[in-house]
Amino acid sequence: MIPRSFEYSAPATLDEAVSLLQKLGPDAKILSGGQSLIPMMKLRLASPPHIVDINGIQGLDYISEVDGALRIGALVRESDLERSALVKSRCPILIDTTSVIADPLVRNQATVCGNLAHGDPANDHPATMLALGAMLVAVGPKGQREISIEDFFPGLFTTALEPDEILKEIRITIPPPSSGGAYLKLERKVGDYATAGVAVQITLHSSGACQRAGVGLTNVGFTPLKARQTEAFLQGKILDDATIKQAATIAAGESQPVDDIRGSAEYKRDLVRVLGARALKLAVARAKGGA
Ligand SMILES: Cc1cc2nc3c(=O)[nH]c(=O)nc-3n(C[C@H](O)[C@H](O)[C@H](O)COP(=O)(O)OP(=O)(O)OC[C@H]3O[C@@H](n4cnc5c(N)ncnc54)[C@H](O)[C@@H]3O)c2cc1C
Repeated sequence: MIPRSFEYSAPATLDEAVSLLQKLGPDAKILSGGQSLIPMMKLRLASPPHIVDINGIQGLDYISEVDGALRIGALVRESDLERSALVKSRCPILIDTTSVIADPLVRNQATVCGNLAHGDPANDHPATMLALGAMLVAVGPKGQREISIEDFFPGLFTTALEPDEILKEIRITIPPPSSGGAYLKLERKVGDYATAGVAVQITLHSSGACQRAGVGLTNVGFTPLKARQTEAFLQGKILDDATIKQAATIAAGESQPVDDIRGSAEYKRDLVRVLGARALKLAVARAKGGA
């Protein structure tokens, strides 16, 4: 289908983009990679009267390390993330995640910030960012503010961003030594959204016990889910097979899936259990320097 007609603006700076969003009001939509917005417009699930295309703004395509944190700018594409040596060495769970998103054509356009800003519980980055405890930097008419990823997804396809705010940057504290992460998802076919997905990021204490655990779940609720009970259970434990099995069962209990074309709620809950155990095992092996 062909989208409804719309006004198009291509601001050259962030300030200009924010002013435009303020002037145009809540019906205006930001366009970054366009890999979610354009299909929705073509299907007429969205018909924004104004598009504010931020792709012409210089200097937003950086991946950098500043003060022990990885910074990912608004125009970093999935393919940039996938090829980044810095990301691979500092936060490899992001490579796990980006490499299972859609296909190379989509990944060449889609942005990591857009993946979060879309607020889709089926998207893959939210769970990983929840496991990592990411901080998001938004820019709006009142200036810049930080939003914890935990507060970013208040509801289905809804984020904590105001309509005149742009998600400018993602900040991730670089995990310390003896850390490991893994993102695993099951998809019906290559390039599909997750039937379910589990992100795990752990840090081991010198005693071998779990010092920190972050666990995020994809597409098993109306929002991306942080598996808080699982995280609390893992804290301070030696992550042997029995503990991992128990943790994965707790994660399955924390999921809130519904029946849909990808499977029954019961099936998806069991998937969280299976993927959760596998992701935990892989994260532990990576934290110990293997895998
Ligand atoms: C065939 C196909 C398969 C896909 N499979 C997957 C998959 O398996 N896993 C997955 O995670 N995703 C998948 N996607 C979605 C893809 O990753 C999207 O591109 C991504 O979710 C949105 O990023 P974008 O940069 O394209 O955003 P856009 O489509 O440009 O925007 C999406 C929404 O976010 C808003 N927005 C975008 N950027 C910003 C910003 N910086 N600040 C504020 N608001 C912003 C827009 O206004 C819009 O509402 C798939 C897409 C396609 C077409």
